[in-house]
Amino acid sequence: MKRPVALDAYQWPPSNEEIARRVGLDVGSIIRFDGNVAASPPASARPAALARALADVNEYDRGRYQALREAIAARHDVGVDQIALGAGSDEFIVLLARVFAEGGTVATVPSFSYSMYRYAALMANATIIDDPYQADLVFVCRPNNPTGELPDVPDVPGQLVIDEAYADYAGVDALERVADGAVVLRTFSKAYGLAGARVGYAVATPELTSVITSRQAPLSVSSLSASLALSALSTPLDVTAQVAERERLAGELTAMGLAPLTSYTNFLFIPMDDPQDLVDRLMAYGVVVRAYAGGLRVSVKDELDDDVLLEALRAVRQGESAPEPMVRHRRATAETLLNVRLRIPGEGRVFVSTGAGFYDHMLQQLAFHGGMDLRLEGVGDLETGDHHTVEDMMRTFGEAFDRALGDRRGLTRYGESRVPMDEAIAHAVVDLSGRATANISIEPDPGMAAHAFESLAQTARITLHVTASGQNAHHVAEASFKAVGRAIAQALTRDGSLVRSTKGSL
Ligand code: PMP
Repeated sequence: MKRPVALDAYQWPPSNEEIARRVGLDVGSIIRFDGNVAASPPASARPAALARALADVNEYDRGRYQALREAIAARHDVGVDQIALGAGSDEFIVLLARVFAEGGTVATVPSFSYSMYRYAALMANATIIDDPYQADLVFVCRPNNPTGELPDVPDVPGQLVIDEAYADYAGVDALERVADGAVVLRTFSKAYGLAGARVGYAVATPELTSVITSRQAPLSVSSLSASLALSALSTPLDVTAQVAERERLAGELTAMGLAPLTSYTNFLFIPMDDPQDLVDRLMAYGVVVRAYAGGLRVSVKDELDDDVLLEALRAVRQGESAPEPMVRHRRATAETLLNVRLRIPGEGRVFVSTGAGFYDHMLQQLAFHGGMDLRLEGVGDLETGDHHTVEDMMRTFGEAFDRALGDRRGLTRYGESRVPMDEAIAHAVVDLSGRATANISIEPDPGMAAHAFESLAQTARITLHVTASGQNAHHVAEASFKAVGRAIAQALTRDGSLVRSTKGSL
């Protein structure tokens, strides 16, 4: 009997839990800049998107996800018989090395590229060589991981595989090479924000597609993942904000004396000596980046996360004060799925989007006047009204607030504010002591205002007194949320200073 031996395999970096343990931080304050994935799930990843798949989860999808393959084919204007689905594009990298280079040779373009090509070659018992013109199989990583550059596609005699995992950010692709026999690999893990769903695909001629699918397991993508991918395709992809954020981050890094390479992706490569030293020092702040020979690679997330990276870099390189930790918290129930990031004190950068329009706006007012950075995103069950969503939104926020307060030592603790809004007036008094009590009188209440504050007091473990009255219920509620925000801002101060900002005490 042949005894298999373990190969040198792809190495996953440590988990958030392991890093948190190592550096002594709350697991919620670890931010990953080492995976090149989106900062948060797409709006399309809602429980409703899974309902049909769950109803049939006892079955195989005998159509092999026809609707998904059709939607992908339509996106690229190719035939359905030119699409093969897999569990991430990694599945195809491994498979194609076996199909085209078993016992042969593999080259990558550029030569410094995604490490998985090397492991795939190893699994296929193939040798990695430098010269793409001599290789049986050539992986062109376009744009390239980890450098972010956009290499030209060479005309080689061997089989071309063009890995376009990041092509959505580049706005260019090489799909025209499919007709000449190239295989193009795409993924839902990056621009579509579905890395955990594990869905990728290959685009090839119908003949090559048959060659590929005949060597795959019959159905390697789960029906749940296929549903998420199909939902993600229902709205056109828009990477404008991520590309703009990449350029902002590159500008900030340059201003700090670093020199990131031009990137066509959602990450930046910064050439430097001894990048591991920086990796270790940033990790102490919960900021996880990745070292390569000759440089550091950082993923572009969104403004809130990226600013933590920038502040941590300034702290380790220029001795500036440590960044305020950002609490990340998730609440997933049968009704709602909410992700929150909260930083106190912050700079008033707030964004709340749960679908409960008016109360999203109310919580935004509270956080803004509370001087916080808050990003609360997700979806709630609005079919039976906004009750569940508003309650869960406030509870999620309250839980995050409780964690952000930590041991609560050194806080001013009490705060009070009176805020008018046209004819309405609200008075709020808060005590951050840890005793959860709410005494709320809001007249007239637009529906959920009093309950929202009760949910907040309970989960944030604060004492909250609110009295508000007026003619227009919306005015009364808005004055109340602003007053509570301002009272909290006062209670959050330290050392007797009135306002504390991330830049120190004003
Ligand atoms: N290709 C490249 C260049 C990548 O960086 C990655 C992700 N690390 C992949 C393919 C694999 O992506 P997935 O398997 O999640 O589709």
